[in-house]
Amino acid sequence: MTVAAILHDKGRHIVAVDPAARIAEVVATLAARRIGAAPVLDRAGQLLGIVSERDIVIALAQHGAAALDRTAAQLMTRNVSTASPATTVKEAMAMMTEGRFRHLPVMEAGMLVGIVSIGDVVKARIAQQAQDVDSLRAYVAGAA
Ligand code: AMP
Repeated sequence: MTVAAILHDKGRHIVAVDPAARIAEVVATLAARRIGAAPVLDRAGQLLGIVSERDIVIALAQHGAAALDRTAAQLMTRNVSTASPATTVKEAMAMMTEGRFRHLPVMEAGMLVGIVSIGDVVKARIAQQAQDVDSLRAYVAGAA
């Protein structure tokens, strides 16, 4: 199973933020959309970075409420690990575990086409394993 299958199921809708967006605005977007991170895109749609609730919590701990006046560009992680639609679910899970992040932007021909979260990846992996168990059960029942 690949990242493309996850995007097919959940759709390719992307909630992105502007680099100049204030963190207060980013917080409102994350809360309203019930998501944990947002890619930061420039006007041409190029991926500049990613800002997650973790970045915001750290900034709040360091700067207090003043963190809310910072911009997405100031808090975002610039060195973003990305997947392609052909990345397998297993590979995506390994990238997230090793990199200690829960969001993986998906790029195709240099453009952001979706985001998969650790929740999407775990869900896909469990579904895949349940399918494997069913196939093995059917095989064993047929062989008996
Ligand atoms: P997360 O677990 O996704 O909320 O993010 C934890 C930290 O990793 C934060 O500093 C994020 O900005 C950063 N981060 C999130 N996703 C990625 C990614 N795909 N590549 C690199 N860093 C990321």
